[in-house]
Amino acid sequence: MNSVSATHHIGIEEPLRIGDDPAIDFLNTTVMENGVLTDRLQSDADVLQWLRIMGFGKPNTVAFASGTLLKIARTIREALRIAVENASTGKAINWRYWNTLLVKSPSHLVINADGCSTTQRWGTDSPEQVLGPVIAAAVELLTTGDFELVRKCDDDACVLWFYDRTKSHRRRWCSMSTCGNRNKVAAFRERQQAGA
Ligand SMILES: [Zn+2]
Repeated sequence: MNSVSATHHIGIEEPLRIGDDPAIDFLNTTVMENGVLTDRLQSDADVLQWLRIMGFGKPNTVAFASGTLLKIARTIREALRIAVENASTGKAINWRYWNTLLVKSPSHLVINADGCSTTQRWGTDSPEQVLGPVIAAAVELLTTGDFELVRKCDDDACVLWFYDRTKSHRRRWCSMSTCGNRNKVAAFRERQQAGA
């Protein structure tokens, strides 16, 4: 990521869930909006809201210094981007970095009210703890993911990734309604012009 616009604020009320994987959905919080690389996470509140919307249930406010949650979230996200790109091209992943994050984000199980199931919980004392579910999802993806199927959208101008869980494993686009449709129309026009 070279130039992430800090002025072009886009709401995160509808986070992109096209990744088919929570860690990839986290990657996809930077998007191309009208040709501008845009970071949908612009504040601690944005990060907390994203976590809540994604079902990672977190508090409305945090006790640590303002701005640190956003800073750590962005750092982890860009480390994940490098790790995913490395895994996709057969390069080594910096496991020491992820192990350090795991040490900083311990979790425990809580027995649910039904008495026959448990839920994994993280603390809220540090940015890494608040981001614990995302770190866990990232480690899960990096250690168990099939990186033949973790791909970037085929549109050159698009920065979105997805985990191709389709049966045919031929998914090419982040979304059919955006990149897929645009490229289909472009291909159709090309064919028409070639035939004309
Ligand atoms: Zn796309």
